[in-house]
Amino acid sequence: MGEVSQRMIRVLDNASIDRIAAGEVIERPASVVKELVENALDAGAGSIRIQADEGGTAALTVEDDGHGIHFRELPLAFERHATSKIVSAADITQVGTFGFRGEALASIASVSRVTLVSRVADEEFGGLIRLTGGVHERREPAPRNPGTTITVEDLFFNVPARRKYLKTPPAERKAIVGVVTAVALAHPEVRWRLVCDGETVLDLPPVESLTDRVRDVLGGEVTAHLARFSREEGGIAVGGLASKPTYTRPNRTQQYLYVNRRPVRSPALAQAVFQAYRESVPPGRHPAVVLFIEVPAPEVDVNVHPAKTEVRLLLERSVFSLVLGALRDGLGLRDAPRPTATPDLPAALAGLAAAEGDYLRHHFGSGDDDSGQGRLFGAAASVPAEPADADGPVAEDAPLRSAPFWQLHRTYILTQIKGGLVLIDQHNSHERILYNEAKRALAEGAYAIPVQQLLFPVHMELTPDQVQAFQIHKERLGELGFVIQPFGGQSVLVQGIPSSLRNWEDGRLLRDILDDLGEGRDDPNADDEALLASFACHGAIRAGALLTLPEMQNLVDRLFATDLPLSCPHGRPTLIQFTLAELEKRFGRS
Ligand code: ADP
Ligand code: MG
Repeated sequence: MGEVSQRMIRVLDNASIDRIAAGEVIERPASVVKELVENALDAGAGSIRIQADEGGTAALTVEDDGHGIHFRELPLAFERHATSKIVSAADITQVGTFGFRGEALASIASVSRVTLVSRVADEEFGGLIRLTGGVHERREPAPRNPGTTITVEDLFFNVPARRKYLKTPPAERKAIVGVVTAVALAHPEVRWRLVCDGETVLDLPPVESLTDRVRDVLGGEVTAHLARFSREEGGIAVGGLASKPTYTRPNRTQQYLYVNRRPVRSPALAQAVFQAYRESVPPGRHPAVVLFIEVPAPEVDVNVHPAKTEVRLLLERSVFSLVLGALRDGLGLRDAPRPTATPDLPAALAGLAAAEGDYLRHHFGSGDDDSGQGRLFGAAASVPAEPADADGPVAEDAPLRSAPFWQLHRTYILTQIKGGLVLIDQHNSHERILYNEAKRALAEGAYAIPVQQLLFPVHMELTPDQVQAFQIHKERLGELGFVIQPFGGQSVLVQGIPSSLRNWEDGRLLRDILDDLGEGRDDPNADDEALLASFACHGAIRAGALLTLPEMQNLVDRLFATDLPLSCPHGRPTLIQFTLAELEKRFGRS
């Protein structure tokens, strides 16, 4: 784009607006399926059939026996903001249907070739409407039983950038199966059929109970291990089926979470499930869970994301404890032991330790009189230690909290341990911390990393390579605590970042990571490792950054909470220790 054209402000034409908006709702064939299936459910369908060819990239059809669309309203269904489900904005807080934005059909039609055939029961004939790239091509009477069939062909034919980033047909097909499975679990009363490339993937008869549907979808083995749970409090109901700790999986793929029967990906809910089972299943193993939360509609902010995949609960905290309690009670799970105040001595440090026992007491006991140390290292950016308490506990019991830290040359943290002193490299150790925390988050899929919402979301224009890296690693980045939405074309909107990061610098961090990931990599298994290394390296506090006392304390606490604290992921040391014996020897004291 030349300089002149960038300076000219123009109002985009409708087709462009639709196409940009489509990017928010429609990411891939599976999102089309999700929208169309929700429409069918909203239309009261008792039977829904989905057909996908080449992972939905060639063609997708959703057929229902719902109430249909009047012939005269066919064009209206494809108008942006045309919906039969609400009348005004005030109704949004009461919405009981899946859709209400009136955006899905307009978006889908703007990026594909759509044919819709529909008939309402009280009209004798049905109608057909056809659009290409959002442009109406024809509308004519057509025979059909009451209900609706919509066919979407050549998705993104007019948005080559999007089309290019679609995964392989098998990968897209897998995503479709995931969507249909999740929705079918929540609607046992509906008959579901999914046919991919002529092969019947799901054929689920309508059944009475969730257990029956789970058996049909997930199989008899898991069903034999399921127990019910439910609990209600303050107008919020939680319930479903979950596997006893005797049945676990290596990942979270058998965890289905719903808010008001809408499948959601909620880090907070995933974390609640994880917490509930934490003491009952081995590390790295996960239960099967089908969990429903029913919240009065006004509590659910369905506006959060156009694709509505992330329903943010206004009352997340109470929902969290409700879920935790319901699962623990229903499954008879163990309570977590009270968290220990201090981490155990890391094995790698055992050799350096004085003896067994509590690491912090051993290493950070305040020992001798501290008063002169500030002066000794007077030039450093130090924060004075808390004043020694004459009546306080004996030195052995003094907690880390009172250990003094000095930052030297804005690069190293100096602190005293019982047997001498340690010098900690702030960058290397933060890198180690981020790497281990992120690795655990990815392995557990537990969203252990808290997100810091940006007050002002950052709009970033990416390079094609960065876009590609983003597309590939989107989910993983999400698990690491990045909240990033595609924003049309080459740009994204960053709404949240991992709260443990310090070097956000208006997006440079993300670019650095995406650039690292973009470097041609042919081993897909190396991807996670590359992501972790890049995340840790770019995210870590740099040498030269001034740290406050709480920041130093936090860094040291977290370093020793990792299981490999002695070196950074590249193998550089995180700390150097000087023992008292060594000091004595060098000062000729012995
Ligand atoms: P929304 O679902 O948010 O209202 P959509 O763009 O998905 O918006 O659909 C627009 C309108 O088209 C719906 O409000 C509904 O009236 C009609 N519609 C779409 N799909 C169906 C269907 N399968 N059966 C009956 N009506 C439908
Ligand atoms: Mg809809």
